[in-house]
Amino acid sequence: MVTLKDKLSHLNYTQACRLLGSRGKQLILAGGKLDIDLFEQVRLNSKQFSMKLENATVAITLDSTKRRRLNIRCSDCSAACEHQGAALSLILEEKLSLGLSAPPPERIPIESLSEEALIKQAVDDRNQRAQTEKMRLKSMNPRQLWTDYIITSYASGKSYRIALRGWEFGESYCSCPDFRKNSIGTCKHILYALNKARRKFSKAVRKTPAEITEICVYLHYGRRLQLDLLVPEDLAPEIADYLAPFKGKRIQNIKKLIHGLRRVEGLGVPVTIYPDAEEHINQKLFQERVAETVAGIRKDPKNHPLRKTLLRTELLPYQLDGVAFAVGAGRAVLADDMGLGKTIQGIGVAELLSRHASVSKVLEICPASLKSQWRFEIERFSNRSSSLVLGSAKERSAQYDSESFFTVCNYEQVLRDFLSIERVRWDLIILDEGQRIKNWEA
Ligand SMILES: [Zn+2]
Ligand SMILES: [Zn+2]
Repeated sequence: MVTLKDKLSHLNYTQACRLLGSRGKQLILAGGKLDIDLFEQVRLNSKQFSMKLENATVAITLDSTKRRRLNIRCSDCSAACEHQGAALSLILEEKLSLGLSAPPPERIPIESLSEEALIKQAVDDRNQRAQTEKMRLKSMNPRQLWTDYIITSYASGKSYRIALRGWEFGESYCSCPDFRKNSIGTCKHILYALNKARRKFSKAVRKTPAEITEICVYLHYGRRLQLDLLVPEDLAPEIADYLAPFKGKRIQNIKKLIHGLRRVEGLGVPVTIYPDAEEHINQKLFQERVAETVAGIRKDPKNHPLRKTLLRTELLPYQLDGVAFAVGAGRAVLADDMGLGKTIQGIGVAELLSRHASVSKVLEICPASLKSQWRFEIERFSNRSSSLVLGSAKERSAQYDSESFFTVCNYEQVLRDFLSIERVRWDLIILDEGQRIKNWEA
């Protein structure tokens, strides 16, 4: 059976235009100019693609009664509209980021590729797009090679900002979602711009490294993500002094860096922080805030205010301490490490994390006999939605992709539904092995 995701992955420009009728081409082009944050405004699950705009919501679903099988609606307009154009433009442009781009079937399965081969394949994919898709490149400073550019896709009308800084991966920047997500340090837009530059500029220019003209914080993509600082040579000494502790070093103390940059800006010198670097900084600051909360709880769980406010019941001091311990340990949480009242504490962990970050999908894995108990306690102690995974394999696969905050499944299902589970972005996974399994091992 054809699924919504299959249908959207194969959607091409001509089909998208036809979906919107005679004005399809104009609507897609106009809609493509709207600025849409893929991570905030767009949701895609097995049943529906939805995109929230300021005063309209566009939904795309599968409709077996229609010839083209896709049904597109806008909450605000009765006929084909720019909002729908924006949705289709986004889908055409961002298949990779939406997880819609399936690799051609003749390829070696991803699991059997080495890390280097994986990176090579990802770059090849993007190179091919750079060579076959039509784009328009506008330089902010046409006489310079290493400068900022605006790149626009002909078909979708979408524009992104590029900063070219060098030939190597990780040196340049693009504001597109794929660049932010793929972590290889390049994208089809950067590759397109570099190809153009290779033809346009002389060898002498191509070999001259980018001159640093402003202070700039960027994210370097390599084996591990790293903040880097570009500093012009001709800075006044008092400004250079503020930046000296970070120049050419691994930046560890984010708060100190921000402090230094503020001082520099206070002296009237502009500082550019690229959006991906800013996001990285925010994430680090989030981790530090969580660590502070955890330390605060663990020092005196009995008198910590969260003991009364975290859940709809008052936690015992050792329970709140267990929650803090688990949050501090990160990643997957083992409910069994928490001893008595582990359900409450598992729920508390999800709740505590969601107060510091946008946690919206939690997978709870437990023995089949405990599933109903988990759901009962989630409803009793928190205001979060929950759903139990039930039914045949076919029914189950869509259930992981639901709108629920908590999804509760059992271990046997994890083994069978591994692929469906892997497709969903889980913010937190809680494991409850139950006493039974503990006893078997003993
Ligand atoms: Zn509309
Ligand atoms: Zn890009």
